[in-house]
Amino acid sequence: MSEQLTFLAVHAHPDDEASSTGGLFRVLANQGVRTVLVTCTNGECGDAPGGATPDSAHHDGDEVAKVRAVELDHAVKILGIDRLVRLGYRDSGMMGWPQNDDPQSFWSAPVQEAAERLAEVLREERPQVVMTYNAYGFYGHPDHIQAHRITVAALELLDYEPTLYFNAIPNSVMAVYRERWEQEERERRAEDAAKGIVREVPERDAEEEEVDLGTPDELIDATIDISSAVNEKFDALAAHESQMGDSFWMKMGREQFNEVMRTEWFVRVNNPMGVTGMVEDILAGYR
Ligand SMILES: [Zn+2]
Repeated sequence: MSEQLTFLAVHAHPDDEASSTGGLFRVLANQGVRTVLVTCTNGECGDAPGGATPDSAHHDGDEVAKVRAVELDHAVKILGIDRLVRLGYRDSGMMGWPQNDDPQSFWSAPVQEAAERLAEVLREERPQVVMTYNAYGFYGHPDHIQAHRITVAALELLDYEPTLYFNAIPNSVMAVYRERWEQEERERRAEDAAKGIVREVPERDAEEEEVDLGTPDELIDATIDISSAVNEKFDALAAHESQMGDSFWMKMGREQFNEVMRTEWFVRVNNPMGVTGMVEDILAGYR
């Protein structure tokens, strides 16, 4: 088959391409697959360089977006992504933030209108496989939910049916992460206590507790070995310095990251090629 293989991912913010598909992008690029990234927002609600959070008076969303645009270009290069399309919506912030209501926010954009813009890219590229988030946006962020909505709506506008995948983390892996986070939290508290600092333990949000980000292991459809690209995944995350400098991945350091982060997982939403069983190649059925 000489047909050009193309993979297209629809992500909400600069940095999401690295965290959930960084390895996959690089693996596919290494295989000669054409890769396309659609980033829906400019990420105005991220932390400002120097650490100012979006609710602080010193936070300038436009400045943040400028920094993140450069970081995204850098990550795109590292991951070997062939084409980056920025839809250019404003970051909507977390659910309930006033930025949700900005008429230029992605959350305020009419789904059909944004879907039509995405469909235009899909018609140009005709990817066999498309990736975005589930209806909960993986973790409830409005821009991630909206990315899901416009992707599903855009696929309806096409004259063919690509295979659609959502990113996922198996429950078994989530349990390991959770343990690691709790361990880190305990260590931090012990360090603070040794220094005589008493920190109040933040009260857990009851709703937050109920949300289960994991997917039952048996529902995972694609398990991608990204060990050959794990270095580039780390580099791409590091390229998003303004957001990731303090992240749990960067704290892990490259060595541990390379050991732990060797896999990316996806759930298949439709199955036009009649693929059966768990696959290790997201383009399974097309080659
Ligand atoms: Zn995001």
